[in-house]
Amino acid sequence: MPAPAAPALLPAKLSASGYNSLIACPYQFFATRMLGLNAIDELSDLPEKRDYGDWLHQILAQYHATVSAGQVPLAQRAALLASVSEQIFRQELARNAAALGYYVRWQKVMPAYLHWAAEREEQGWQFVIGEQQMERDLSWPGGAIRLHGRVDRIDEHADGTRAVLDYKTKAVQALRDRFKQTEDHQLPFYGLLSTTPMSAGHYVALELTGSKTGDVAAPDYALWQDTLEHRIIEQMHAISTGAALPANGIDTVCQYCDVRGLCRKGAWA
Ligand code: SF4
Repeated sequence: MPAPAAPALLPAKLSASGYNSLIACPYQFFATRMLGLNAIDELSDLPEKRDYGDWLHQILAQYHATVSAGQVPLAQRAALLASVSEQIFRQELARNAAALGYYVRWQKVMPAYLHWAAEREEQGWQFVIGEQQMERDLSWPGGAIRLHGRVDRIDEHADGTRAVLDYKTKAVQALRDRFKQTEDHQLPFYGLLSTTPMSAGHYVALELTGSKTGDVAAPDYALWQDTLEHRIIEQMHAISTGAALPANGIDTVCQYCDVRGLCRKGAWA
């Protein structure tokens, strides 16, 4: 099993997906984030699910910014969301008619999303910012790394506490299952990007379960952020002083790994 050490190659910046890669397999992190090797994207003429996710992020950022800037009454919000959605999808449909399937899919989700958003507002939460690029430095004696990422949304409660929200084009149960994956630290990572403390982190489901959508709160969020901050500092410090980066990914990670040809798993295990 290869297990290189490369203290001089510690990256200056770290994203949530980069950190998840380190946890899933240190060698994968070495190859992709320290050597900078990446697979060439396969070009496709058809829109893909990640494009759909990008469009919904744009729509929701624009919709919530308009609602909060103009105090749009509840009765007018369905029309506003439909209009913002139509504007974004019209651009995409002009490029590729295959986006229509995704537009129809989103139109089915919109009423459930509005219902969920209204309930959240009744509980005292207000949208603050959306699609925000954020970064924060973590340091240790002799070194530092800049955490960075684009946060989908931050809400503030009437009591002054704040929460990070991350939109996913998945149903609620799939998001609950995500918390069982020990290599997923996306939500606490986003919490660490803010200098204002975040009291909660939620994945928001943009797919229906029956006729509803919803959100899933990260368990022990404050503790998870604190633990993660210390672990990142420890691990980055260790890499910068020569810790080995073994190719110890498990099969479910290796199955989708872009650098399998480099670690040559199969030749030695
Ligand atoms: S194939 Fe598996 S062991 Fe090899 S780098 Fe990728 S995740 Fe790690």
